[in-house]
Amino acid sequence: MRITGVTTAVVEANFDYTYVRVLTDEGLFGTGECFPTPGGSTIVRQLGQLLVGQDPRDPVPLWRRLMTSVSGTGSSTAAGIAYNAISGIEAALWDLNGKRMGEPVVRLLGGAHRREVAVYADLHGGTELHSITPLMQYRRPFWLSDSGVTEIGGFYWEEAEAEATSIEASVARCVEAVAAGYRFVKLDLDVFSTSREGTSRAVTAGDLARMRELALAVRESVGPDVGVAFDCHWRFDVMTALAVAEAVAPARPLWLEDPVPPTPEAMAAVTARSPVPTATGENGYLVEGFEALLQARATHIVTPDVQKAGGMMESLRIGELAARYFAPFAPHCIASPLGLMAAAHVCAALPNHLCLEFHGTDVPFWGDLVAGGEPVIRGGSVHITDAPGVGLELDLEVVRRYSAPGEPVFDAPPVR
Ligand code: MG
Repeated sequence: MRITGVTTAVVEANFDYTYVRVLTDEGLFGTGECFPTPGGSTIVRQLGQLLVGQDPRDPVPLWRRLMTSVSGTGSSTAAGIAYNAISGIEAALWDLNGKRMGEPVVRLLGGAHRREVAVYADLHGGTELHSITPLMQYRRPFWLSDSGVTEIGGFYWEEAEAEATSIEASVARCVEAVAAGYRFVKLDLDVFSTSREGTSRAVTAGDLARMRELALAVRESVGPDVGVAFDCHWRFDVMTALAVAEAVAPARPLWLEDPVPPTPEAMAAVTARSPVPTATGENGYLVEGFEALLQARATHIVTPDVQKAGGMMESLRIGELAARYFAPFAPHCIASPLGLMAAAHVCAALPNHLCLEFHGTDVPFWGDLVAGGEPVIRGGSVHITDAPGVGLELDLEVVRRYSAPGEPVFDAPPVR
């Protein structure tokens, strides 16, 4: 069996869902998803040229070949956005191999500790769709804008999200998610910062009071048995992060995510004195990146992104390393159903899975991207079946309908 081509498609959703398809001379193909990246589909297609003519039955050596191609043979811990592309290509190879063997990918990763993978609902507050480009700008997607053309706004860290700071709206969203079966939810805390300037990492006493009010209101509304996590998007300095942790501690949050930029030193300073569990990892790459965090005791919980950290096998290795530090595995995920399912196979193969992010609540066609129409999330969990590969195929008609301007749809030319 030989690889004959690597093609891409991009859907303009709340993020750019960047797909990669690996084709073979036997008609079998596998599909993966990459973390959104500037120039992502171009990087995927260029890397894909290195795979043409290779045997897809050797996914790990092929992954190594791609890694070396972007880092040089002398580099052992290089990382960067090319790895976002490699992660999706690698996932496509596992999907292909699962189909070839007639087995779900979780069996190729060592087997399933569980078939129901708990998911957490990422809920900002409010119900507005937040669509963000690979360059971190707000945008109105072409399918939402009156002009029919994608409208680009300011950077997401500069623009206030007024709706997200409504405690009533956040509570309502959490109650709705719990009623739908979710046992884990996450809200943004950094939206309460009075200063949205990138240079300021401080908050006011009023900001802290509003954070505490939100945390307690959510806890009261969902009860003691729902995990409630808070994301801070690297916004604070160490002392501010500790003040934030103390402010929300009475609500017994599941974790405080990225309270400071994710260097081992900064996170370790917070983690050592935080009254609540800390979490980081969505910016991390490879086992080496997470080894540095875990050795420094910089986080209680690891949150790698399977579409970015190096792929499915590398995410498994990261999770296994975390298990040796008794650190739960709670992957970041902003993907479409395909990427969520790939991440779920990794979670199923790990003993220390806690919960997996679902970030598509406000994308009206999220579930429609799956051919066949079976819901991917039911009762707050992804169910891993015996279907071969990652267990789902994209609905190409829906991919075409929401296809990003200028992007091919696998082997077909751009729609718009
Ligand atoms: Mg986050």
